[in-house]
Amino acid sequence: MVFGQTLSPLLDFVYPRPCAVCGTGVGERGRHLCWDCRSDVSLIQFPFCSWCGDPVQGQVDASYVCSWCRRRPPAFDRARSAAHYEGPVQHCVKAFKYRRATHLVKELGAVLAGCVDVHYADAVIDAVTYVPLHGRRHRERTFNQSCLLAQYVARRSGLTLSDAGLYRTRHTDTQALLNGAARRRNVEGAFAVKPTGWVSGRSLLLIDDIMTTGATVDAVADALKQAGAHRVWVATVGRGV
Ligand SMILES: [Zn+2]
Ligand SMILES: [Zn+2]
Repeated sequence: MVFGQTLSPLLDFVYPRPCAVCGTGVGERGRHLCWDCRSDVSLIQFPFCSWCGDPVQGQVDASYVCSWCRRRPPAFDRARSAAHYEGPVQHCVKAFKYRRATHLVKELGAVLAGCVDVHYADAVIDAVTYVPLHGRRHRERTFNQSCLLAQYVARRSGLTLSDAGLYRTRHTDTQALLNGAARRRNVEGAFAVKPTGWVSGRSLLLIDDIMTTGATVDAVADALKQAGAHRVWVATVGRGV
């Protein structure tokens, strides 16, 4: 950890930053979103697919499984996202990921932890893990946004954080620039688990920032399942369309 990151929470406390979205003053010290912007976060509520968590409109019951999951069953056991990827959540994720606003992990992590509390209260979780970055991208970005979010959730919930021995087998293109089928091809076989045997029989909560087609978390879950994982639960901050 660099010196600036260590000091950052203290400086935020002494000199509060303006709201990360609208720039007005934030009433609470240590927070980075004002009340109005926090109330604009569009949380995902039922109805959604019981498997991948994709929100739908219409009259379905809790056992509903979307046509996408029926056609191509995902490797993960369940996926849920905290909020629609729009408004303040989209603004904060972009600033966090591309403009190194790592202090926003607190806001995004709080939204994510709420989702984990609601949707995984019944789940046995041996460890919290995250989508690994390829070495080259990690060097460019200097941090892994999924890892910081996973760290926040693990600390808040008293769970163990583990990289689960996951790594990228190759560099992949940025998913945001690709369409559905190309996203799947882009990440297929792109993840693997080091053969330590640690993952075998364990149930893991896999964290990522955004889920759109689910191709990335599915490819990571597939690698974990191939390494013998018992259950792979997925939680993301945002759900894109
Ligand atoms: Zn605001
Ligand atoms: Zn589904």
